[in-house]
Order: sequence, then structure tokens, then C-alpha cells
Amino acid sequence: MSLIELKGLCKTYYIGGKIPVYALRDVSLTIEPGEFVAIMGPSGSGKSTLLAVLGLLDRPDCGEYKILGKEVSRLSERETSRLRNHLLGFVFQAFNLLPRLDIVTNTMLPFVYDDGVTEANRQAAKELLTRVGLGDRLRHRPNELSGGQQQRVALARALANKPLVIMADEPTGNLDSKSAQEIINLFKEINQQGKTIIMVTHEPNLANEASRRITLSDGRIVGDERLRATAAGTVNMPALKPRNFNLFSLSRLLDYFREAYLSLLTNKLRSFLSILGVVIGVGAVIAMLAIGTGAQRQVEKSLSALGTNLLSVRTSFRQGGISLGSDSVTRFNLEDLKALQQLDGVKYVVPYVQGRGQAVYANRNWSTSINGTSVDYQYVRDAIPTQGRFFTRSEEHLRAKVAVLGKQVADQLFPDTDPLNKWIKINRVNFQVVGVLPEKGGSGFMNPDDQIFVPLSTAMHRLLGRDYINNFDVQAESADYLTGLADEIGPLLVKLHRLPAAQADGFDVRNMADIQKAAAETVQTFSFLLGAIAAVSLLVGGIGIMNIMLVMVMERTHEIGLRKALGAEDRDILTQFLVEAVLICVLGGSIGVGIGGIISFSIGAVAGWSVVITLESVLLAFVFSVVVGVVFGLWPARRAARLLPIEALRYE
Ligand code: ADP
Repeated sequence: MSLIELKGLCKTYYIGGKIPVYALRDVSLTIEPGEFVAIMGPSGSGKSTLLAVLGLLDRPDCGEYKILGKEVSRLSERETSRLRNHLLGFVFQAFNLLPRLDIVTNTMLPFVYDDGVTEANRQAAKELLTRVGLGDRLRHRPNELSGGQQQRVALARALANKPLVIMADEPTGNLDSKSAQEIINLFKEINQQGKTIIMVTHEPNLANEASRRITLSDGRIVGDERLRATAAGTVNMPALKPRNFNLFSLSRLLDYFREAYLSLLTNKLRSFLSILGVVIGVGAVIAMLAIGTGAQRQVEKSLSALGTNLLSVRTSFRQGGISLGSDSVTRFNLEDLKALQQLDGVKYVVPYVQGRGQAVYANRNWSTSINGTSVDYQYVRDAIPTQGRFFTRSEEHLRAKVAVLGKQVADQLFPDTDPLNKWIKINRVNFQVVGVLPEKGGSGFMNPDDQIFVPLSTAMHRLLGRDYINNFDVQAESADYLTGLADEIGPLLVKLHRLPAAQADGFDVRNMADIQKAAAETVQTFSFLLGAIAAVSLLVGGIGIMNIMLVMVMERTHEIGLRKALGAEDRDILTQFLVEAVLICVLGGSIGVGIGGIISFSIGAVAGWSVVITLESVLLAFVFSVVVGVVFGLWPARRAARLLPIEALRYE
């Protein structure tokens, strides 16, 4: 059976999509095993096109192409790749070696697209390189070798998977005449050992070394001469077992990662820039989430300090629609307190008088807010002292000069002594410290930790000189009473103060839960906003990756063509580029997490915000960056994978 059989093969190109160029016209040809065929003809006569069709790098428009009786020109992409890998070996004019790999690894490339590289393959590659005369240069990279030597590597690579046919397109075109002769001699030697060779050349003296010379002109065969006899060999179709493409085999994945890593190394600046894009994106996500979460936690904490089922009762500076000066505002008094306590469903009413004061202990002093309140404060606001005790009802009656300190005040005045039972001065009046409140966590105005609590009566008459109460907390017995109480309190106060009905808005009764909800919602919005900003920066990073990937694909189109010629399938190319994108993102993601952490804590330290980096946010940012890599890498990778091998190889 003939090794190769072509019948009525044709291939037409259309220039600008319209003007036809008949590159091959009705080409019929048989090639027997063991032949050394030279294809000659003037430039543009269709030699390369014929070789591309023979090499399954291009598809003919019409006609038949059989290898050992099997029609091969209309197989699927995978079957075609399989045949290229197993039956054909290519030698190109431009050598097409991968510069970043040593020559042994270059020679082993066909194995990569078979069942993966093994130690036996490595040995075979070394033997082949020794056979072409490079046994002493195994560790070299292609650019450390002369043109002739590079072409020998290419020949070794073509022989690696023991193909039936070697296809060579102007293999000596880039060589000086001495190296050219050496390569031709190697071809002849290989041919004498039984390998079929098909070589395109335009040099008559090289063509004369072949056993058969076919001449093309204008896409037709115009000459076919036998120059010398060849030993008639027989070859059989090798068993083409389906390829074991297990992406998740560790060794294959490692191979992909090593390739990707090498390719990142070869283009350091570009890799650095694309990684930087992800670093900024992920860093921003981490920092934004840390600030957002920190703010949320802070608000939650200070809100939880507010207590439950609470109504806040204040006087308003607007009464009857008119703004009032502070003198004419209605003031609360002890009668109001009693009246409120009598309402149905009320558990506690806590009064407050507030003012600023200077607290002094030994040589330390601290300006803070002074609160006169009742014993019930500790229950309503969940503020049972952690050290000492709260003041008692009898102390309240006696206007005792006892003080309970917020945590921060205690820390400021007593950095290294126990505050209990010590005497401090508040606005020059002596007070004994009886307790320290638990830390509530808060900041700014009304920070519960930065306050001193004294009995209401003491504050009013001994400290602040007030005859009125600023505001009340009313705690209901259960949530069911809240709405009713909120509606009742305003009118009750209006009545108590004998105000005209028009001034019913003179009191401000608010459900703390509503305030809490509003605050929580604000913080949530704020966090979402931060998250959105971060997502946008990741998106921009992703587009950066896509951009870089597209450039990479374009730059490496030639390499893609070569890999396909050696038997790479679309999914190999796709995986390779995806792995590269993912590697960029994983690297960028890891660095970004670190930098994001540093940024968050620096911002936190400088601005005095609390920042919280949660495991979730790290995972989210990381997963998101990998997803960005896959999503934005996918399109360029698919574009790369879908190229016809011949188009990719011709791409400059
Ligand atoms: P040779 O190898 O003998 O120089 P080719 O096989 O490269 O010739 O080309 C044969 C003809 O087909 C030429 O006229 C060439 O211009 C045309 N041709 C080859 N490739 C393309 C292409 N991709 N698009 C359009 N025309 C092409």
C-alpha cells in the first residue's frame, strides 16, 4: 500500500476575500515508503501549500488525501493533531525552536503532546541529539548554537516520536552552504535507514540529492522524475491509541505551570506589569473590605452598647415649628422622671445630665464628659462594672461624691495603678472611684468609654449646678410596648409642662432600634461602596491581564503554530494560556493580599480606624482574582487555540 496518496487535490486562496489564487490545482500523487522526495518549483508555485496540506497543517478545498489508505483530510481537530503527533515530523526553514528551553527539552516537545514526558523520553531525546552530532551540547539553549546545529536539533525533534514521514520546508534556506550540505547528508542518512522524507526546496543541487524530484508550476505538478532507486520498504499504520489527556494529573499540571513560569520569566517586565495590575486590584479589595468590616464591627459594637427596647426622650429645639434659643427650650425635671416611671410597660427610666469636666489624679489629668445618671444606667446600657461596683441608690440620695469611670478614663488616669477607692478631682471636687465600666469600643463624640458617671443628684447640685435633666432613656418591658410608649410620651410631657397643643413636637421620642438600624444601614452602604470600588479596580486589573494575554498570544502565535504542528490540540494551547493567566493572578493575588494587609493596617493606624481582615475577605479576593484570570484569560486563550496551525506558523 502506498504511504501517501493524493487525488485531485486543490486549494484556492482568495485575496481580499474576492480574487482567487489557485495555489494547488488537481494535484494527484502517490509516495511510497522509503522515498526521499524533493518538491521543486519557482516561488509561488504552491510548494509550501502542498507541504502544509501533506503535513495536515492546512485543509485542502477538494480532493482526497490518504495515508496508508486512511482518508485524513477531513478528520476532527483532535484526530488530526493525533496524526501530526504520531505520523509526521516537521523541519522548518526557521528552525522554530523554543528559545527558553534547552535543546533536550525542545527535542522532547512531541512527547508533551503524547502521553507526557517520561525519563525514557528524555533518554531517547538525548540519544537522538547524539545521533545528529550534538551529544556534547545537551545543556545548551538554541541561541547558543549555530544555525546548522539548531537545524539538527529540529531534526532530532522531528524524529522524536518515530514518525512515518519527515516533512521539511526549505530546511537549508537559512544555512550557509557547508551547513546545508551537512543537513542534507543527515537527511540522506535517515532516509537510508528507511524513513520517508518529503522536502520542499528551490535549490536544484539539493533536490538532486533526493531519490525523486517533483516539480510544481502554478499549483500543478509539471514534472516527476525518479533520480535513484529506493529500497522498497513497507510500513504499517501504527496503533493510534486515544490520548490520555488528564489535565488533573499532577505531573501534567506541573508541566503546564513550569512552562507558564518560564514564559513569565522570559518577559519579566510584561509579567511584572500584569502581576502589578492584580496586586493593585487584590490589595484594594483587601484594604477596602478591611476598612468596611472594621467600620461595621465598630458600629455593631457601639450599637450593642445602646441596649435593647430603648426609647430616647429629648427636648427639641423646635417647638410649634419655631426654632428656640437654648433659654426657652422646655427642660425636663424630676416630676417628668416620676411621671414616665409610672407609664404602663416601662421597666426603667434613666435620666441624664451632661457636662464636660476635667478629671485629675496625681499629676495626670483628662478632659472628659461627665454624666449624672441613676443606678439603673448599668442595667439599661448593659454596663455592669468589671471592677468595683456601680453607685447605689442610697449614695444617690445622699448626693455622695462617688464616680464610676469609663474604661478609657480609667486607663488615662491610672495607667499603672488600680483606680478602685482612689480619690480623684472632677472640676476641683473630690470624688472616690468605686467602679470601672467594661470596654464598649467606640470613638469620637459620645464614646461610652470616655465618660465618668456620678449620681444624678451629685451631678446636678454639686458638680454641674443644674436644676434640670437633659434627657431620658426609657426602657420598655418588652418590644411590644415600644410603639405605644413612643406615642404616649410626647403628649404626656406636653400635658405635664402645660404647653399648647401646637408645641407637641417639642419633645423628641425615638426608638433606639430605628437609630441602630439606620446607622447599620449607613455602614452597610459604605461597605458596599468600598467593595464596589475594589471590584472595579480588580476589573481594571483583569482587563490589563486580557490585554497582556492578547499581546502574548500575538507574540507567540508562531510558537502556537509550532506546538500544533508537533501535535498539540486546541485544549493544550487553551490550557497553557489559561494556566499562565491563572499563575499571574495567583502570584498577584498572594502579593496583593500581603500588600492589602499592610495598607489596611497603615490606614487604620494613621486614621485611627479599626480595620478587620477576615479570612473570608482574603479568600474572596484570592478566588476573585483567579476567576478574573480565567475569565479574562479565556478569550485570548481561545483565540490562540483556534488558529489553524498553518495560519499560526505564517504569522509574523
Ligand atoms: P511556494 O511555496 O511555492 O512559494 P506557496 O504555496 O507559498 O508557494 O503559495 C502558492 C500561491 O498561493 C502563491 O501565489 C501565494 O501568493 C498564494 N498564497 C499562499 N498562501 C496564501 C494566503 N494565506 N493567502 C493568500 N494567498 C496565499
